Amino acid sequence: MSQKKNILVTGGAGYIGSHTVVALIENGFHPVIVDDFRNSERDVIDRLTKITGEEISYYSIDICDKELLRTSLAGIQFDGVIHFAAYKAVGESVNLPLKYYQNNIIGIVNILEWCQENKVDNFVFSSSCTVYGQPKNGFVVDESVEIVKSNSPYGTTKIMGEQILQDVHQSNVDLKTMCLRYFNPVGAHPSGLIGELPIGKPTNLLPFVTQTGIGIQDELVIFGNDYPTEDGTCLRDFIHVSDLANAHVSALNYLMAQDKSLIEFVNIGTGKGSSMMEVIETFERVSGVKLNWRFGERRKGDVVAIFANAEKALQLLNWKAQFTLEDAIRDAWNWEQKRSHAL
Ligand code: NAD
Repeated sequence: MSQKKNILVTGGAGYIGSHTVVALIENGFHPVIVDDFRNSERDVIDRLTKITGEEISYYSIDICDKELLRTSLAGIQFDGVIHFAAYKAVGESVNLPLKYYQNNIIGIVNILEWCQENKVDNFVFSSSCTVYGQPKNGFVVDESVEIVKSNSPYGTTKIMGEQILQDVHQSNVDLKTMCLRYFNPVGAHPSGLIGELPIGKPTNLLPFVTQTGIGIQDELVIFGNDYPTEDGTCLRDFIHVSDLANAHVSALNYLMAQDKSLIEFVNIGTGKGSSMMEVIETFERVSGVKLNWRFGERRKGDVVAIFANAEKALQLLNWKAQFTLEDAIRDAWNWEQKRSHAL
């Protein structure tokens, strides 16, 4: 193995993981992916080689198989872990809660046990702004906002993941942990070689927009236009996935510079809310394509508006978003076009 610092990246072939692998390589780390490709494509590995010019180390294993994890990684000295591997579809989790608890909870417990056994003490966890639900006092949230009961099993797995990490921290293990609470990741690598890969009908707005633009979906429905926002549609904090990837590098660098056990919770967003209408308008302007869209009923469970107070990320990690919504939409559109033409 290389002399560079080895970072275990669970779920490293997925949407956010693959962009983070690029950022890690660009910043002198040696990522080692563990991903069984249940929600990603194997050729992501070749695409990562194309982008970075490096051979990518990976193991196609299920992180819930502790014995296989142990034996596959034996003999490699790791300096840190970024734990992405999990299921993430909110709606599916309501119908299949056990699938979510099984993978998302057993997964994190296994990885933490593996860390203890192998004395790996820098740990970055993919959390989500979903832990805040709909904030009571305004639309902007900082990390001190009370964590509420989630209205989906997926959200509960993120709250539980954070709680497990907190309990491990309190048990005096030498773990340095950063829970990154992502807002709404969008966009793709500017090369158009990696991006978001929804399996089946997309549940996130931007893949739905680009798929409607290219003709895979017939029509885009905006759920609700009578919310108490300027144009009546929901507001979200859209963060370019490359910015998000860089936040993981900043988090690792921060943890590695600390000499005591710690746990931190940090919002990763732009600090700006954009409405659904703004996304449609920006897409039409950037792509030159007219979208077939209409308003529909409000969707159950949607929060009205939420965006990050991202001050802590700036203070602690010296990180802030560099890309705009327009950049993200341009890159997502480039990815959609390249992908659709390759099919
Ligand atoms: P993704 O589905 O694209 O990537 C997850 C990867 O993990 C996939 O490649 C999948 O094959 C792999 N995986 C899942 N379970 C596994 C297992 N048991 N063993 C081995 N590999 C396994 O998802 P993503 O959008 O990249 O999200 C990454 C993380 O970020 C997840 O934990 C997700 O909950 C969290 N998150 C995502 C968003 C978002 O909107 N994308 C927002 C907030 C938080």
